[in-house]
Amino acid sequence: MKSCRLCNQSFISNWSSKDAKSGESLQMALCGACGLVQQTQLPTDEELRIYYSHHYREDYKATHKPKLKYVARAGNAAKDRLAFIERAGIQSAGRQLLDIGAGGGEFCYLASRAGFEVGGIEPHQGYSEFARDEYGVDIQTCGIADLQARQADVVTLFHVIEHMARPTEAVRKIWSVLVEDGHLVIEVPNIHQADASPHNIYFKAHLFYYSRFSLMAAVSQFFELICVEDEGNLFMAFRKRAQPLSQMILPTQAQIKMTADRLSRKGWVEYLTVGGGLKKPFKRLTKIGQELLIGRARPRVVLDQVWESSRNYKPAYLMLVVGLGYFAWTW
Ligand SMILES: [Zn+2]
Repeated sequence: MKSCRLCNQSFISNWSSKDAKSGESLQMALCGACGLVQQTQLPTDEELRIYYSHHYREDYKATHKPKLKYVARAGNAAKDRLAFIERAGIQSAGRQLLDIGAGGGEFCYLASRAGFEVGGIEPHQGYSEFARDEYGVDIQTCGIADLQARQADVVTLFHVIEHMARPTEAVRKIWSVLVEDGHLVIEVPNIHQADASPHNIYFKAHLFYYSRFSLMAAVSQFFELICVEDEGNLFMAFRKRAQPLSQMILPTQAQIKMTADRLSRKGWVEYLTVGGGLKKPFKRLTKIGQELLIGRARPRVVLDQVWESSRNYKPAYLMLVVGLGYFAWTW
């Protein structure tokens, strides 16, 4: 029988699921020691390398480079991420930030506007080229295993660690590139949240599904927690330990039971009631309306607008975009 990819202990439950996107069979398990929810039959390192350098973005966004509406979405997400970094008390001015899995470079560009000296790595050829050409940001085309030695004050991993088949090796590498007292900032989907549509869970590209407890365990040998927010996606900020611990710090059995209980409640009923699923079509309409206003600007101009705009849309403006959205929807 297979054991946990993170802590090597045995599973407390195994179940057979379907990939929510492709319908293919997917074997899932919950680890009884670290609480990590995971696929039990992981692709090989080579399969993952080829997938992320060539196919991943095309599978999910049907494109070799980001469309403007994705640029705007990524810009808004980047703003939220920078706001979290500020709330976590991490200084930006003149500090070196390394973004791992930089995608189309939107976060890197806005982080540089926030005062960071920014670099990134991204395995996808098309997206990393796009980031260099459009925003002039310093992004290497590679995965973390090929990351050249460079020093950073802050490393960011936004929706990346759930794709990494060897999280402990990745975290060790990040520890080694960070300066003394350097920071690691992670955002992942939150397995404890009710707002993930059953359409989005589980699927092949997400090898692991983290909670605040299992993510804490995953980095615990190398980092200590300084800030966590888990109202929606899970945001966690950590400080580098001076020396790694010899073993990871595991969650309590009560915390693992919380994850087991959450899993048993997941499904359409929970999503549509407490998960806010009924409101999603309206939110989507508003988003479509806002995106219609983007027009044909250059990506950099779109990001500058996102950066300079207030996120608090006024009611009249909201009515206008909802109206436009409805018009586009029914057209
Ligand atoms: Zn485990």
